[in-house]
Amino acid sequence: MPEILINGQKFEAEAGQTVLEAARAAGIFVPTFCWHPQLSTAGNCRMCLVEVEGRGLDIACNMPVSAGMRVLTDSPEVRAHRRAILQFITLNHPVDCGICDKAGECSLQDYHYAYNGEASISAEPKVRSTKYYNLSSRILLDNERCILCLRCTRFTHEISKSMALGVESRGDVSVIRPVADRPLGDDPYSDNIVDLCPVGALQSRQFLHKTRVWYLEPTPSVCPGCARGCSVNIWHRKPEWHVKTLDPAQNQSIARVTPLENPAVNGPWICNKGRDLARIFERRRATEPMLQGSPVALETALERARELIGAARHPLALVSNWGSNEELDAFQRSLGAVFTAYVKSDSVPQPGERLEDELLIRADKNPNSAAARALYADAPARLPEGTDLVLVWGEGCDFGALPRGARLIFLNAYLAPENGHADVFLPTSVQTERDGHYTNFQGVISGFHACFAKPSGALDAEALFRSLAAPARVHA
Ligand code: SF4
Ligand code: SF4
Repeated sequence: MPEILINGQKFEAEAGQTVLEAARAAGIFVPTFCWHPQLSTAGNCRMCLVEVEGRGLDIACNMPVSAGMRVLTDSPEVRAHRRAILQFITLNHPVDCGICDKAGECSLQDYHYAYNGEASISAEPKVRSTKYYNLSSRILLDNERCILCLRCTRFTHEISKSMALGVESRGDVSVIRPVADRPLGDDPYSDNIVDLCPVGALQSRQFLHKTRVWYLEPTPSVCPGCARGCSVNIWHRKPEWHVKTLDPAQNQSIARVTPLENPAVNGPWICNKGRDLARIFERRRATEPMLQGSPVALETALERARELIGAARHPLALVSNWGSNEELDAFQRSLGAVFTAYVKSDSVPQPGERLEDELLIRADKNPNSAAARALYADAPARLPEGTDLVLVWGEGCDFGALPRGARLIFLNAYLAPENGHADVFLPTSVQTERDGHYTNFQGVISGFHACFAKPSGALDAEALFRSLAAPARVHA
């Protein structure tokens, strides 16, 4: 454990650490553009320059610690060099923060105010480059904003392995460009480069000019897109920035989804499917309880469901593997003794979707199969003869395969033709409207939290199960 001095304070560094890692581990901030803890060291931005006694200025990201080293991270000389680097970077940068999606979370903006604060010293016109360059159907590139840190190219080479990006030309006409025959659009992790880009050069088409980041706040959640259960932040408008007249639907919608770093599950990455959660949760919702397609009061629907449960001799339930641990527990406690229950897969791989890989994506496209299977077996291909009542919870049911003549109680959150065919239909909440936990395929339990209010009429499955159980007959 080499002992080093940083800004006059002694620290025990770990053998093999760089000065940057040792400083950050000691809680001392050193600014960086190109360095990222999960990527190889490029050393090209020079922002992490520090002063080392007897050695002068050098980049901390590529300097191994050695015993007795004396490092200054914020000396006048270091600050002067950081200022010079920022003046160099902004020579040709458009500084168009007013229309840039990255404004408010841009390292260049932050470091400019911390270390430079001066207008460009150049009297020459800025070098112009490509704007809105089409990298894929999801990502645009603004080469004028690019500072050539190469985080994006290293991500595609080292993490997603798509090798989709490279650098073309040299000097002040260097540009990031797609590699021929390796479309970035085929990389299911491509959107991580938008987060990685320290400036606003890489722009998500989904998010482009939709809102400003300071209007938004994140709610920690879990991606339900596969059994990995990546930790994510779901971003939505802060209550104090709710729009009242223009488009109030924005107040209840997902503005973007970003990774929430979780070393036990997903590290700092997620796949593109996890970014598209609005497509799952913002489908048209079912909000009315129904009896055979006719809207009724909730209590009327519950009463009819209780009657059916009480009268059934062989009731069977198909349990959702999108149900949370709490909901599964509520089903088991309330109705587990009444129903013969099996696990149903709510979601299956879609055409063109990557099935599985070694980074994150799992073949099981459901978030909570592990917890559901700890309670019940998978549903058999043919459900038992003689079943006279089926409770279907969630999507993915093959209604044509249900036993003929069996009555149907259906719990679903979304509008679907099958809702109106059920003897009793009960509308439920979705993940973004309640708190809960999922257990991923490794057994890691992760929590999600409500971002939005439930639509009027929708109920949490947990409450419905308890209510259905109240007077139900328990079979021996
Ligand atoms: S596009 Fe962004 S991440 Fe890629 S090299 Fe330029 S500044 Fe770096
Ligand atoms: S790997 Fe699975 S859990 Fe993670 S973001 Fe993608 S779909 Fe969601």
